[in-house]
Amino acid sequence: MALVAIVGRPNVGKSTFFNRLTRSHEAITHDQPGVTRDRVYGTAEWNGVRFSVVDTGGYVPNSSDIFEQAIREQVQIAIEEADAILFMVDVTTGVTDLDDALAELLRRTDKPVFVVANKADNDERTWEASTFYQLGLSEVYPISALSGRGTGELLDALVKRL
Ligand code: GDP
Ligand code: MG
Repeated sequence: MALVAIVGRPNVGKSTFFNRLTRSHEAITHDQPGVTRDRVYGTAEWNGVRFSVVDTGGYVPNSSDIFEQAIREQVQIAIEEADAILFMVDVTTGVTDLDDALAELLRRTDKPVFVVANKADNDERTWEASTFYQLGLSEVYPISALSGRGTGELLDALVKRL
């Protein structure tokens, strides 16, 4: 089964979207040390395509100095093990320095990377999502993980690439 990784800095809505995707399925936590433990796996299905999803970050408390490094490591693991990557960003904050740093790593992979511009809860925020094209990753999908707005278009495109 294909594996989809959700990566991004804290608070952009990764876990909210993971929970939406895997709602009817059970999440599995792996008892492993360090950054690999900071991952939760679940199963999702869209248009009859079943796939595994991994939510990264936020399960192991990190001291602030290793925080950014831990997020970068999660991106590296995603590039190695995932079949597709959902790079989540937040339309209410726009592009941050950490987003830029993660995008730089993600531009190096040939695997499909979808920029998921979350918290696009209304039309205005949906238009603002185009600012994320400056990350240099081709596909930007505005969604609201809370309401589900825009998620159909994203998932249609995602499962075509699995
Ligand atoms: P994570 O740290 O990336 O896993 O982010 P969380 O899923 O924990 O969400 C961080 C905060 O953003 C929470 O307060 C969520 O309720 C909120 N949030 C998540 N998705 C959305 C959304 O689509 N719209 C809005 N307005 N808030 C959201
Ligand atoms: Mg989280």
